[in-house]
Amino acid sequence: MTVLERIEELREKLNKAGYEYYVLDKPSISDYEYDMLMQELIKLEEEHQEYKDDTSPTAKIGGEVLTKFSKVTHQNQMMSLGDIFSLDEVDDFVNRINKLVVSPTFVCELKIDGLSVAIRYENGKFLLAATRGNGRVGENVTSNVKTIKSVPLTIPYKANLEVRGEIFMPKASLVKLNLEREINGEELFQNCRNAAAGSIRQLDSKVVAKRNLDTFIYYYLGEVDTQIEALDKLRELGFKVNPYARLCKTANEIKDYINYVASIREELPYDIDGVVIKVNEMKYHEIIGQTVKVPKWAIAYKFKPEEAETKLQSVTFQVGRSGVITPVANFEPVFVQGSTISKATLHNEDYLKEKDIYEGDTIIIHKAGDVIPEVVRVVKEKRDVNAKPIQMVSYCPCCNSKLVRYEGEADYYCINPQCKERIIASLIHFASKPAYNIENLGEQIIRLFYEKGYLKSVVDIFKLGNYKDELINLPKLGKKSVENLLTNIENSKNNTLDHLIFALGIPNVGAKVARIICERFNTIELILAAKYEDIVAIKDIGEIIARDFVNYFANSYNLEIINELKDLGLRLDMPKVEIRTDSYFSGKRVVLTGTLTNFSRDEAKAKLESLGASVISSVSKKTDIVICGSEAGSKLAKALELGIQVMEEEEFLNLIKD
Ligand code: NAD
Repeated sequence: MTVLERIEELREKLNKAGYEYYVLDKPSISDYEYDMLMQELIKLEEEHQEYKDDTSPTAKIGGEVLTKFSKVTHQNQMMSLGDIFSLDEVDDFVNRINKLVVSPTFVCELKIDGLSVAIRYENGKFLLAATRGNGRVGENVTSNVKTIKSVPLTIPYKANLEVRGEIFMPKASLVKLNLEREINGEELFQNCRNAAAGSIRQLDSKVVAKRNLDTFIYYYLGEVDTQIEALDKLRELGFKVNPYARLCKTANEIKDYINYVASIREELPYDIDGVVIKVNEMKYHEIIGQTVKVPKWAIAYKFKPEEAETKLQSVTFQVGRSGVITPVANFEPVFVQGSTISKATLHNEDYLKEKDIYEGDTIIIHKAGDVIPEVVRVVKEKRDVNAKPIQMVSYCPCCNSKLVRYEGEADYYCINPQCKERIIASLIHFASKPAYNIENLGEQIIRLFYEKGYLKSVVDIFKLGNYKDELINLPKLGKKSVENLLTNIENSKNNTLDHLIFALGIPNVGAKVARIICERFNTIELILAAKYEDIVAIKDIGEIIARDFVNYFANSYNLEIINELKDLGLRLDMPKVEIRTDSYFSGKRVVLTGTLTNFSRDEAKAKLESLGASVISSVSKKTDIVICGSEAGSKLAKALELGIQVMEEEEFLNLIKD
């Protein structure tokens, strides 16, 4: 390959990765891999000036500006930061600065792994917030940033001011969010940064409000002499400022700080990916200067991802409840980032091919986004000459039926409804906590009952009581545990219909979708009568879900299950919403206006109606109350003009709490 070919290949790879990362919030390579490709490209372009090109990713900051939001032109360009990866490069940085200015000092800060934001205040009031975008033009994310609790809406500073900082999602919030997404059958966020970036680009600020985002502000674009002073000013004005910043005088002090930060990194409640080193004295910034992309007076020291080498023992193929076949790498247990792991998913055939894994390979493991174990790459030099590549199976590893790969899909499916592993996986799902929540009916018991012939379908769960004496005599079970289990099963029959619909494992129907559909139809009879058009007409329900939903109930085997469950006494409706006559809102005519943070319009309307109010769309003399969210406009003005009671969202929340 010629140098030019390599340069072009790197540019193409980096452009693709940049698009996935900045626009889709869904990277397919690790940040470290990206950074290494970028370093290689920078080096090649430096050595071969003849191939320099201003459209190269080395000259580009961030991503494209999404058209979903209006655009904001930054008054001062928002820059990225240069990267270094070794402590020696800290010396180089400090030496370079020392040659340019006299006795500089350095402020070291944590490099928060989120996305940068610029926030403008006018006369002490929050005016707008924008993402970095391509550095010159960003996206206007004002209403979303307003929902972040640590961002003050007013500050004790009476002139115009811009501050900049990082929006991030705390680690615990990501875990909670991903758990919810898993239950709802939504794709998981790979790490805190993607989750924060994906959240801030939500069109519905109500969703953003629930995502529990946070901020650390680190740039003050007003008059100050030093960065330390800037951080103090920001703190005084009420911004959330990271407490770990430290003033250092020498390269050694900076390196000590980096080592210290590396030692506490795991314990921090938010993700960091390095340390930012900034020249403290503002007067030096101009002297030191900047490139088109990064300031030369600051640099980011980035941590290398923690990786571990281990040996592949086997690749097994798991059968999921939908019949999907997932290859899983089983390897010699290794300790990575706080825990011992021995398995990692290999997703599907395409992924297997991409990673090019052979039997007994030496593999490098890390945790994607610090959470999910992942095979980073294979150490090909250590491969046994006789080793064979791992192949995707074409027959179900459980029932041996031929697997099917649908057009346009990456997965293979076992389509035999009698496949033992499929049945067991669907029983495990049925009894699981977010689904039908039958305590003590876990995988082990399910497997035992299946083997002994007591449990072949979900219907059998509710017939277990017929075999009470036999169950008591099974190994590891006693009278007490069987009785407990049977009581739990009996009690579960009172679960509302949405739990059952989710538990049935209809493709693409997660807990949230099940709830939305059940709330719309209320009873199983109405659900069975619903047509595709009725389902697809529901807000938030797409064509694929509607198709799968209707197909499921068009199948006679599935209808038989519903009938049997009905005969066995399972509850098949949603709770009746009682309309209150004694609430603050009973009998009142209410108008909703502006953007509410805690509810969608529909939710607020449903809540008010359940409290006995009638919700109307326009303000007139007959209106009793106008509830207003942010950015309320003409309706609010009219209410004020007519002297109608105006209620802010907070007051509304307080009233409905009681
Ligand atoms: P960056 O994340 O390397 O560093 C610059 C950013 O650091 C700033 O814009 C700011 O948002 C942030 N920051 C955090 N704490 C800070 C502090 N205390 N002071 C100042 N800034 C602070 O650069 P970037 O341009 O935002 O993103 C590029 C990086 O994104 C790449 O180096 C790579 O790691 C990652 N990336 C990954 C992929 C992928 O496919 N995995 C693709 C594109 C980019």
